[in-house]
Amino acid sequence: MIPGKAAFYLGLLAIMAVLVQCNKDDKSINFFSVNQDIEFGASMDTIIMDDPAQFPLLSEAQYPTAYQHIRRIRDNILASGELNYKDRFPWVVKIIHNDTTLNAFAAPGGYMYFYTGIIHFLDDEAMFAGVMAHEMAHCDRRHSTDNLTKQYGIAIMLGIILGDNPSQLAEIAAGLASGLTSLAFSRQNEYEADEYAVRYLSKTDYDPRGLAGFFEKMEGQTPFLPVFLSTHPSPDDRLDQIYYHWEQSGSNPGERYESRYNDFKNSLPPVTN
Ligand SMILES: [Zn+2]
Repeated sequence: MIPGKAAFYLGLLAIMAVLVQCNKDDKSINFFSVNQDIEFGASMDTIIMDDPAQFPLLSEAQYPTAYQHIRRIRDNILASGELNYKDRFPWVVKIIHNDTTLNAFAAPGGYMYFYTGIIHFLDDEAMFAGVMAHEMAHCDRRHSTDNLTKQYGIAIMLGIILGDNPSQLAEIAAGLASGLTSLAFSRQNEYEADEYAVRYLSKTDYDPRGLAGFFEKMEGQTPFLPVFLSTHPSPDDRLDQIYYHWEQSGSNPGERYESRYNDFKNSLPPVTN
């Protein structure tokens, strides 16, 4: 493992999360195969897992109940029947033990990471399901590889997947990094992930507005500039859109599952910060 490699990939992920190069008319352009999404995600997962200093994984052997809870929530969302790659992606969920980080992120192909900080921050299971459904939508809508393919083309991106072209990888990283200032907080992927999160939850018994509850709580926290806001657009307009999509989906009030969510939180290590 090259020191700093995980940080580099995560930087790349964060940058990908805010890139938007397409409009609605050309959103189908993605030269990656679905299997390559999975391979790319698996490579990133290996890099993340090889850097426990930056990504201290919560031990499943020590905290099996926490993993049962988070997989139960994932399975409820998958059972919505609304995800294209429900049976194709591995839908790996991992918990990172860091109580001060209010964030979650997804790698391509169905790999998702949730910090204990965001789990503790939320009040009920509908809110957490909203956040998870948003990350699942980034995977299922193939946002990362879609954007990178548009920008760099398949040959270069294949070189990255195969790991046989490190100088090109560095070059792309530099390009992405310099693009960050001009492309930061382009919003289409985030809005789409929000829309699909509402769509998924509307086919479960969760309150489909769970994600809105998360943004409302985040707004109360803005003096702290949570990490989530550094990789995601501000909540302002997104709330209106979430409520709009909820009305469009039939305004099902759903359930919040507060006490069950407290069981999940209580299955985590005691909070330290
Ligand atoms: Zn997002």
